[in-house]
Amino acid sequence: MASEPRVAGSPLDLIGGTPLVRLDSVSRRAGAEIWGKCEFLNPTGSVKDRPARLMVERAEAEGRLRPGGTLIEGTAGNTGIGLALVAAVRGYRCVFVIPETMSPEKIQFARLLGAEVQLSPQVGWDDPRHYSQVARRLEQELDNAVYLNQFDNPANLDVHYLTTGPEIWEQTGGAVDAVVMGAGTGGTISGVGRFLKERRADVSVVLADPEGSVYRPWVESGEPRAEGCSILEGVGIGRVPGCFDRDVIDDALTVPDQDAVDEVYRLLWDEGLFVGGSSGLSVAAAVRWARDAGRGRRIVCNLCDSGARYRSTLFDADWLARHGLRRPER
Ligand code: PMP
Repeated sequence: MASEPRVAGSPLDLIGGTPLVRLDSVSRRAGAEIWGKCEFLNPTGSVKDRPARLMVERAEAEGRLRPGGTLIEGTAGNTGIGLALVAAVRGYRCVFVIPETMSPEKIQFARLLGAEVQLSPQVGWDDPRHYSQVARRLEQELDNAVYLNQFDNPANLDVHYLTTGPEIWEQTGGAVDAVVMGAGTGGTISGVGRFLKERRADVSVVLADPEGSVYRPWVESGEPRAEGCSILEGVGIGRVPGCFDRDVIDDALTVPDQDAVDEVYRLLWDEGLFVGGSSGLSVAAAVRWARDAGRGRRIVCNLCDSGARYRSTLFDADWLARHGLRRPER
């Protein structure tokens, strides 16, 4: 069956409009209808292409970013890669600060796209070496430079309210019972959740949280305290940022890393989908939530980025073993 091929005037016009795919074997396991939003099909391979574009467009429109300027961001990698795409098309320089524990593939991809990458140690938000603090200082030091600050930049939530949420609504014909997603900045779940709830107040918005994140405790008790730690990239956080809208979250589940990893391999072997750890987190949480909520629900998960980004980590048995995790058996 042929589908309508897309024609785009610029690579930036390829951002968004991602397909929704039914996950058959996951649905059977969950006793529900589970669908995946294919954000890994954005032009650089992740959901963060969406906010990258809108954050730059708003900075331009507000006059904060002038021609030839420099984009600065603190990022787990995907936002930086998305910004490097926008910068390539629009002629900006990029300087990113990325924690050294992020996958080598992401750091390499950002550099290949022309970004200058500084690595930061994995330290708390208050530490001056934390990537957000280094990025903030760089903005002061460099000329015509803008720190985009995805964590508190309203464009990062708005883009999902304006695009991802409406796409899910349209793709499901409004018949969606729940969305289950991880949160890094919280922009995706907050923007999608806000849009869907305005359409249908009874849509459940479910946060899938890794160990060591303050989000679930914050949602449940108002106390942002974290226990444990996780190898999942781009999800979970040590402080609650401006882009996280607690009011739209109905429920939160913590998913152990091994469950997320197991789900990544099941998506690969049972569905033929090569996606990263936060996608496994989202799907594993959806299966758990569906079993508790009762049969037959229609649930949308977020397939946030490509597995190619984690070849040397999630898809390497030795790396997994070094991090106390098991590579599942087929
Ligand atoms: N998954 C991955 C792989 C990501 O890079 C991100 C972005 N940090 C997310 C999920 C979560 O997206 P958001 O920042 O919108 O919460």
